[in-house]
Amino acid sequence: MGERSNVPGKVIPLIAARTLNAPQPLSAQSLGTVRASSSLLDPRQRRLHDLRISVTDKCNFRCTYCMPKDVFGPGYKFLPHDALLSFEEITRFAKISGQLGVEKLRLTGGEPTLRRNLPTLIGMLSLLRTPSDTPLDLTLTTNGSTLVKQAKALKDAGLQRITVSLDSMNDAVFRAMNDVDFPVADVLRGIDAALAAGLTPVKVNMVVKRGVNDHTVVEMAKHFKGTGVVVRFIEFMDVGATNGWRMDDVMPSRDVVAAIHAVTPLVAVDPHYEGEVAERWRYADGTGEIGVISSVTQAFCSTCSRARLSTDGKIYTCLFADHGVDFRKLLRDGSSDDDIAALLAGLWQVRTDRYSEIRTADTAKLRKVEMSYIGG
Ligand code: SF4
Repeated sequence: MGERSNVPGKVIPLIAARTLNAPQPLSAQSLGTVRASSSLLDPRQRRLHDLRISVTDKCNFRCTYCMPKDVFGPGYKFLPHDALLSFEEITRFAKISGQLGVEKLRLTGGEPTLRRNLPTLIGMLSLLRTPSDTPLDLTLTTNGSTLVKQAKALKDAGLQRITVSLDSMNDAVFRAMNDVDFPVADVLRGIDAALAAGLTPVKVNMVVKRGVNDHTVVEMAKHFKGTGVVVRFIEFMDVGATNGWRMDDVMPSRDVVAAIHAVTPLVAVDPHYEGEVAERWRYADGTGEIGVISSVTQAFCSTCSRARLSTDGKIYTCLFADHGVDFRKLLRDGSSDDDIAALLAGLWQVRTDRYSEIRTADTAKLRKVEMSYIGG
């Protein structure tokens, strides 16, 4: 561990867009091997470890980089209720994933707390165990708008901790970014409710877009310094096909670290585990830490261990995928758990995703799944 003055840069090679191979389902025999080892690997030796579960495609915010109003306006058609996976279907899929090595579940959306009776689902998921009989790590990412009302019920149901998206402490900047005039103060009350309920450690995710909220980075760090809340600064990405991403919009994490370090010195910290997405920095005076997620300038595809389950039951093996593989049909047509596990294992074992390693201005224009549909 040593003090750093900046984050090393990374040149992103200019090569063509990725291709996704068709999944090759495993036989029941090979599936048995997978289960015994609990370490399902893709061709780059990346383990299936995290499952992100989108429980709704709806959100009460219209963040300009995620659900811009001109696309997700009043006429936008969200999924009908019968297209959504039921709580039983989600829990069954999560249980099968756990048998294949998944140890961490993150509920996302849209805004997941808008899904009716969410604590019931959390209660069901909290009962799941890994093959070695430990509970799965269960967390949730939210915009924080409903936490004052819901934090305690979520905790009581079995949620362990929470991540809140908050893009600025500056009220005018935040209201403009969420585009529904939602105030910072209400999100802060939600964070306080999460802390009071014991959904800790609470993390705050701030997407940093140059020229929009980059001037409020230090203010964000200062606000949460010494509170136990860990802020993670995320480089602005070309998620979906609607956010108008340009490389010029990205404030590299090294600049974020440098800006905060200039005000209050930072020291690099080792990751909690291999493959941790956020690079950790602690305050030299011992008052907490921050993280930076350098999705653009330091691609972490080589350790990416996440699969994403969409609201309507498709699996995406990359945030930037252009299509997913339908599991809802299997969950509803009488297929066995082994059938579902075999398809998931086969999908993972041919996975070649590495979008952030090959991102260019041209790939940014390609059709990709919308983040509001599979979570971030
Ligand atoms: S671009 Fe895809 S493969 Fe790379 S880290 Fe992101 S989700 Fe994982």
